Amino acid sequence: MKLIFEKSVPGREGYSLPADQFEEIPLESCIPKEFQGKKRELVEVSEVEVVRHFTRLSKLNYGIEDGLYPLGSCTMKYNPKVSEHLAVLDRFVLAHPFAPADLVQGSLKLIHDLGVMLGRITGMDAYTLAPAAGAHGELTGVLIIRKYFEDQGERRIKMLVPDSAHGTNPASSAMAGYRVVELKSNQEGTVDLEELEKAMDSQAAGLMLTNPNTVGKFDPRIDRIAAIVHERGGLLYYDGANLNATLGLLRPGDTGFDVVHLNLHKTFGTPHGGGGPGAGPVGVKEFLRPYLPSPVVVFDGEKYRLRDPGEKSIGMMRAFVANFSVLLKAYAWILSLGPEGLREASEAAVVNANYLLVKLRDHFRPAYGGYCAHECVLTGRDYKQHGIKTLDIAKRLMDYGYYPPTIYFPHFKPYAEETLMVEAPESEGKEVIDDFIAAMIQIAGEAESEPGLLLEAPRSTPIRRTDDVLAARRPVLHYDDELKLKAGE
Ligand SMILES: *Cc1c(COP(=O)(O)O)cnc(C)c1O
Repeated sequence: MKLIFEKSVPGREGYSLPADQFEEIPLESCIPKEFQGKKRELVEVSEVEVVRHFTRLSKLNYGIEDGLYPLGSCTMKYNPKVSEHLAVLDRFVLAHPFAPADLVQGSLKLIHDLGVMLGRITGMDAYTLAPAAGAHGELTGVLIIRKYFEDQGERRIKMLVPDSAHGTNPASSAMAGYRVVELKSNQEGTVDLEELEKAMDSQAAGLMLTNPNTVGKFDPRIDRIAAIVHERGGLLYYDGANLNATLGLLRPGDTGFDVVHLNLHKTFGTPHGGGGPGAGPVGVKEFLRPYLPSPVVVFDGEKYRLRDPGEKSIGMMRAFVANFSVLLKAYAWILSLGPEGLREASEAAVVNANYLLVKLRDHFRPAYGGYCAHECVLTGRDYKQHGIKTLDIAKRLMDYGYYPPTIYFPHFKPYAEETLMVEAPESEGKEVIDDFIAAMIQIAGEAESEPGLLLEAPRSTPIRRTDDVLAARRPVLHYDDELKLKAGE
């Protein structure tokens, strides 16, 4: 298929204005500043070609509005359109980030009340809604932990992170100045208590834990884990990026966690992918409230105000108060569901994941025994004997019209090799999941009888298999890059 640049014909115009009126308007003034004097660098095509170009681009993508998006750990749920509508109301969109508090009482109340609701949902006492994403929330949370220990006059230089953790956990700890100690998981995919006992010494600031964890396993020994960390003076951090299994069912604050971050752009009804925007609120127990970043929204009995939490605060984590539109969508989503709806959402997500697990386990041997929470980890290891890798299974799924699951995470030999992490959030109905199961089972059959179909997949997508290494080392992001690549430069 030709690129728009290749369709350009010198002198062709994509507009027509009545000549008598047009004479007075210099063409240059119609062109955005950055492009003025550069007409030759713009493509010259007719209006219909422009429309076709963008329509075609829109069809090259795959999104939640095309079909199931079973990308484990990412919680790609459908987000109600009504929230989008609310988020673009003038009164919200036109509020200036530096507007005096008196003029934006409604927006401040929304931030304040969302913090209270998240506190009730997670069992935490105080929230900051400033962080712009999950990783940003982690950094905020870990900096709070660090400031707390500095304040106590304690020198703790290590942070414990299980090997099943999301990659941002060790990264955030390291950014906050901690030495990261990786804890090996046991065969069930959960924390190895002996490892924890060994590592949790007086130099360790605490443990960053996800529960249910990133492989969809709930660790029922959380009381014991919390006791080990706390007895030795550490703090327990909860990575709640993906809260989809626990809404209304379990509160991290009740199971011993001191700091929590959430991804509103995963669990709480705002779309994500493509770089944002997101929001990663951080909740803390009362004793950590003074360390929250500045500013916090408080209600003084009369009005909502932005306040500096005081000298213990870790300071500002961003220039403005928050990614407000994301908070707004989360607020709308929580209120529209209510406490029961939230619980039902998590119950449905857990049922969906276990339904997938049970229906597929004879074809894709699970990495871990037992049931799962909001996502399950299957493997394609039985197809290695046919020369098929999990990558080939994922590519073949694209021919069936699905976005593939997360693959090769986790990757522990021999039980969690060739993994597929599958998640079907509550917004997916049984029929959709049944169709996906049927496609997976058909692919399992093909892997045995016609492995070539998998090895050559995908056939139906705009591009076939990419050269991952070349794509990373030499990305073609601009037409000039394409020309250079073609010219062999
Ligand atoms: C997605 C995710 C993160 C990181 O969130 P970002 O918003 O992408 O920075 C952290 N932890 C877990 C468990 C996640 O799933």
